[in-house]
Amino acid sequence: MGTARTAIVTGAGSGIGAASAALLAARGYKVIRVDLSRTAMQSAAERDRGDIVALGGDVTDPDLPDQLRAALAGRDLDLLVNNAGIGIRGRVDETSDAELERIFSVNVAAIFRLSRFAVDAMGPKGGAIVNVSSIYAEIGAASAAAYSLTKGAVTALTRQMATDFGVDGIRVNAVAPGVIETRMIAERLKTEQFRRQISIDQCPLRRSGRPEEVAEVIAFLGSEAASFITGETIRVDGGWAMGRFPRAG
Ligand code: NAD
Repeated sequence: MGTARTAIVTGAGSGIGAASAALLAARGYKVIRVDLSRTAMQSAAERDRGDIVALGGDVTDPDLPDQLRAALAGRDLDLLVNNAGIGIRGRVDETSDAELERIFSVNVAAIFRLSRFAVDAMGPKGGAIVNVSSIYAEIGAASAAAYSLTKGAVTALTRQMATDFGVDGIRVNAVAPGVIETRMIAERLKTEQFRRQISIDQCPLRRSGRPEEVAEVIAFLGSEAASFITGETIRVDGGWAMGRFPRAG
């Protein structure tokens, strides 16, 4: 038996990140969780397993890589899950510069910076990075201009890093979730119109997804089972983005 693999999961206090951290811990990873909310993570870390570090922190903090290096305590990093993200609703003419800068710094610049740290922390045997994009990277969505822009960048960066770091044994992939029942969209899911028109009528599987269903794909892409997959973005959306779904009437 080799030593346990080590993973960093950002946005691990809620939703897809919390489910991913729990699944990776259950599969034997030592997980370093990062989230703005330390409390949520600590209780989850205690529930899942003992030997886990929970870092209360902002992914946009330029000092975070130093804190992560200290938390690794000399171990090589095996997996980075760049999951933390925020949403802003609005068209281009409804989004301010301040909103644009904030969402770009969380959803894009932080991934860039943490990936730079990760490729250095992975050591000679390489590792994997899994980014959380969105189906909005590839389809038009009303009133999601800045959000879609950032997720398009995540998908593009995934391909670029996969191209650059394959030679180092580092695979870089992404997931593109559809409508997943998390805090991010909890309010909108409460409205019957959103629930029916967006998450049910337009989705071949006729339902929204659960964070655990995305976590399974993240864990797969991070694992040896995906050893020949890199530069890929896998939709986890119940078929929502593949095209117009004929309505039953
Ligand atoms: P969520 O709000 O439940 O969880 C996001 C977590 O990220 C929260 O715990 C939050 O505290 C943390 N976070 C936010 N900004 C942070 C920062 N600056 N530093 C550290 N932590 C921060 O949302 P979720 O739905 O689980 O979202 C996870 C990812 O999935 C995001 O990147 C989101 O864009 C993406 N996504 C979600 C959906 C969906 O339908 N829920 C669809 C497509 C993509």
